[in-house]
Amino acid sequence: MDFYGLTSADARAWAAERGLPAYRGSQILSGLYRPGVARFADIPGLPHELCARLDGGFSLLPGVEHRRQESGDGTVKSLLKLQDGRLVECVSIPTSDRHTVCVSSQVGCAVGCTFCASGQNGVERDLTAGEIVYQVWFHHQRRAVTNVVFMGSGEPMFNYDNVLKAIAVLADPGGLGLGRRRFTISTSGVPKRIRQLAHDEPQITLAFSLHAADDETRNRIVPLNRRWPLAELLAAMDDYSTVVNRRMTFEYVLLEGDNMGDDHARRLAELARRYGAHINLMPFNPVVGSPHRRPTEEQVTAFARLVTAQGGHCTIRGQRGADIDAACGQLRRREDAGRAGTGLAGLGELIASLGEDAPGSAATLPPAADASPSAARPDGGAG
Ligand code: SAH
Ligand code: SF4
Repeated sequence: MDFYGLTSADARAWAAERGLPAYRGSQILSGLYRPGVARFADIPGLPHELCARLDGGFSLLPGVEHRRQESGDGTVKSLLKLQDGRLVECVSIPTSDRHTVCVSSQVGCAVGCTFCASGQNGVERDLTAGEIVYQVWFHHQRRAVTNVVFMGSGEPMFNYDNVLKAIAVLADPGGLGLGRRRFTISTSGVPKRIRQLAHDEPQITLAFSLHAADDETRNRIVPLNRRWPLAELLAAMDDYSTVVNRRMTFEYVLLEGDNMGDDHARRLAELARRYGAHINLMPFNPVVGSPHRRPTEEQVTAFARLVTAQGGHCTIRGQRGADIDAACGQLRRREDAGRAGTGLAGLGELIASLGEDAPGSAATLPPAADASPSAARPDGGAG
């Protein structure tokens, strides 16, 4: 039973189904958010006989901390071992006025962006709502969480229902009671879900992992672009922005020699102006096995200047946790090396599951003209 995936109403219904008074459901739910509670018997006020009836040695916790890395700047990255032995990362990023937790939505990722550790072995499975909620509660025990970002491993739009359920639980006053505006979902671009999110959760922030504003470059680094090219992504963003009247965020990982040319800056600024978007420039965090290079500080500043000069609002994301394996999916990858997920065939199935393709037609993605990330650099590969 995925207890951390229950809202107050779900917990009361769960109790009623077992012939218990509804308040027992609420009592169990509030017990989940007490430090040190791991089993029914740890919840204050639950009668012994009820614990014995419910328990059977059952752990309420969806995971336990398996590895931990602490950075000098206060960032803590935890690798949680789930009940089935799979590993997921969640990162706590405290600042003076905020405590942001970066959560994973899947074990691994089917999208396979060439710069990302999470996608190197494909996706193993979706996380349950409770497994997502627990990542936040885990770090909340250290300091109250103010913001939650879905920027750990996984593509949240491919685990849409569980991600939205987790947000509903975290927003529930019976859980952590976080305001909906405290959530950010980051996506590599799944048009159908972008449109759906505008209706389902208009208050949460959506960040678009753009990384290139032309198909030729984006096809090489974000394989999902071969299924939904920029024109389709932008059409979904147009629809999104007619419903949600808030500033969009573009994420742009800076890959030396791949997406940092003058043309790249111009196209990026053009798109940002069109949507009034804010751009987060994120210098590539080196990942073992990735073909990319991290740009120098001078190259990063020069690119940011070019974008700004052409009317694009951008900031360079400071590298929190620089002294630990900060890039998404790296700690897990180091621990879990050699475990294969479903890879790109899995991505085809996920795309098909959205009902946009005839059955069986989406088992593979169209190939990139040249799938090698560093070949044919539009900026001539200067560096
Ligand atoms: N799958 C979603 C959310 C998780 S990734 C998405 O792609 O948006 C969250 C962010 O981390 C993305 O913008 C991604 O591009 C960035 N990221 C992944 N690997 C990185 C790396 N090695 N260096 C810098 N940013 C990285
Ligand atoms: Fe998946 Fe996001 Fe990593 Fe791309 S950047 S592989 S979409 S987690």
